[in-house]
Amino acid sequence: MDMAITWDWLKQKNFRLNDPNLHPVVAQRGWEVVFEAWQRGIYVLITQGYRSIAEQNELYAQGRTKPGKIVTNAKGGTSYHNYGLALDFALYTPDGKQVVWDMNTDFNKNHKKDWMEVVQMFKARGFEWGGDWRSFKDYPHVQMTFGFSIAQLKAGKRPSRPAMVVQVPELTKVVASVTDKKEEEYMIPVSKADKIIALIQAEWKEKDEQIKQYQKMWQEENAKPDKCQQKLDEYHRAAEALRKDKKELGELADEVRKASGRRVVNG
Ligand SMILES: [Zn+2]
Repeated sequence: MDMAITWDWLKQKNFRLNDPNLHPVVAQRGWEVVFEAWQRGIYVLITQGYRSIAEQNELYAQGRTKPGKIVTNAKGGTSYHNYGLALDFALYTPDGKQVVWDMNTDFNKNHKKDWMEVVQMFKARGFEWGGDWRSFKDYPHVQMTFGFSIAQLKAGKRPSRPAMVVQVPELTKVVASVTDKKEEEYMIPVSKADKIIALIQAEWKEKDEQIKQYQKMWQEENAKPDKCQQKLDEYHRAAEALRKDKKELGELADEVRKASGRRVVNG
């Protein structure tokens, strides 16, 4: 069963997109990418958004006048981050325990590199990608220039900021718009569904452990010179029954997901 990261959890981790110093269009498109990627089973973390000029100078000193390795070629004021127009990203492993900058992972198993899937989502929304630069390629970096050069920005020019409130995508709203159903029409509220699913997942894990135990017992018995066929059959049957239970639990979790308007993962 997919122990997928919840949207609520990922939303919290991406608090940097709520920074008011970000251009609202950058923040909005950033949220859209994080959400779309999440729906596809790719968990994006925005590691950097707005960076003040002082912070940028600190970063520039790293590997030059300060220890560490060089991470940027931009002095304070010369990065689009300093104007709230750039984002850096990384990926969470599917268990949410690690952040990786590996460009070759395929966590959602669709035979496409997750990193490039995310890059495409950014590009589709008007971002430039640092991986396309000729020198000093910056693979985690995307920016939206609005046609403004760094020289113009340094001179105090700024892209206009539309009067908009950045909308953080919400699971229930999106589901509602797709299916034309109202949240109330779902039989189980999402918050309750998550609790039920967690219980089912715990049960599922337990079954999985038991299956492994029977497999081990079977192997041990099978390795004996005087192995007992009756025992072997018994272990095999027990494991089969548990596998059936496990499958049913997966389907049950999907039923709960469906009833709460969530994405089905086992179906
Ligand atoms: Zn960057």
